[in-house]
Amino acid sequence: MSDAPTIADKPRVSEKFNSEDAEIVFQSSDGIQFRIHRVNLLVCSEGFSPPDHCTFNDVVFLPESSSTMDLLFRFIYPEPQPDIENLEFEVLAPLAEAAEKYLVYSAMNTCTINLIKRLPDHDTEILLHALRHSKAKLLARVAPLLLDRPLQDIVPLLPDHHIVPWKKTKRFSFGADADIVFRSRNSVRFNVHRRNVQVMSKNLIPLAHDGTLDTIPLLESSSVLKVLFSFMYPDPHPDLEEDQLLPLELIAAAAEKYEIYPAIAITDIRLRDAVPRELKTQPGAVMQHAVRTKNLALIDQVALLLIGNAFAATTKLFDHAMTLAWLEYHEKWHAITQNALEFVSQMRFQLRKVEIQNLSNHFQLDESEVFICDGCMRPDNYLIGSVVGKLGRGVQSLQNLDDTFSAKSYCCNQGEQEILSWRRSIEDAIRSLPKLSAIASGSMVPGA
Ligand SMILES: [Zn+2]
Repeated sequence: MSDAPTIADKPRVSEKFNSEDAEIVFQSSDGIQFRIHRVNLLVCSEGFSPPDHCTFNDVVFLPESSSTMDLLFRFIYPEPQPDIENLEFEVLAPLAEAAEKYLVYSAMNTCTINLIKRLPDHDTEILLHALRHSKAKLLARVAPLLLDRPLQDIVPLLPDHHIVPWKKTKRFSFGADADIVFRSRNSVRFNVHRRNVQVMSKNLIPLAHDGTLDTIPLLESSSVLKVLFSFMYPDPHPDLEEDQLLPLELIAAAAEKYEIYPAIAITDIRLRDAVPRELKTQPGAVMQHAVRTKNLALIDQVALLLIGNAFAATTKLFDHAMTLAWLEYHEKWHAITQNALEFVSQMRFQLRKVEIQNLSNHFQLDESEVFICDGCMRPDNYLIGSVVGKLGRGVQSLQNLDDTFSAKSYCCNQGEQEILSWRRSIEDAIRSLPKLSAIASGSMVPGA
């Protein structure tokens, strides 16, 4: 005997969607019926479009499985939406597909967000889903993951009308008669005219290049190269007005390296606006800019903003010589926190073992060792402990001494003076630090 449904089999009804007053019956591919209220379909979906006067006798057959339909219909009823974060991809994918097909809006975004979370796994399936349903944001997330894969692996998978745009994302051509090919760091090809490159730039074509069509690899990304090459043609040049600091800086650095003067001129203007605007929000990019332009004052200014950041992240901004300078600079800041912690031993507070019953109750002390102020002989109310705790977090505690030393009150005037002299000793040490540019001076020549 086969398990396949036969005409004699009575269709089973979903345990959840079995309401007697629902007007429409859907049947899944595996023979489960779902009784759904027309009003919910009308409010939540555009795609089911049931006939206006169908009745329980008209069953609408759907090609989806009951597990997919069960999840999908839960999105159109006023109840907490199904948690699909932990679904198997094999369940999530058909649900996302059905949500798009039937335009169940409440499910579409949730499915897309969860597909993005599954990347980089299943990148091919997700790419196809994005293409089928023209989901631009999803496409933007998945396409870069596939760029390193050979084109012949991707093209057979694509619907016909997507092949041309896809190829365009891999190759920019500045004309059919372009006679030299560059390849960006992220493997995008640029077909360019040798004459334009030779007239408008330097150092782009290796001296040994024999003029064949082999691609010339470059270290810049495709977004940077696209801008650079457009400065070599007699078409309107990009004005870069809306560009953010980091892309501007990357374009400027490449323009300088390849001596593309129109690009140098415009990035120079835009960076002059962007650097002060982004100083606090993008100190890393500002530092890259400052080092490239050998702007010593700016290097020292932004070093103060970066000093509390993770060491590894900051050194990514530097070449080898600057990394050594940063190491020395950071070491000096670190020494200040160490000295600040040791300063406690010279203060006129004393760490004493105190019998709890010797103290008046309102101090509520439950420790037997406390700092006792020499002036008023009272405990310092944990202020010293709080400062020590903040200094213990490292150099970042020195960037905001107001916070590190924040106190609601002091035990007495002498206690306050002791704490303030502690803070002043740190401020003095910071003032006497050498500047980063001075430490780096061996490896840097002041800018032109
Ligand atoms: Zn005191």
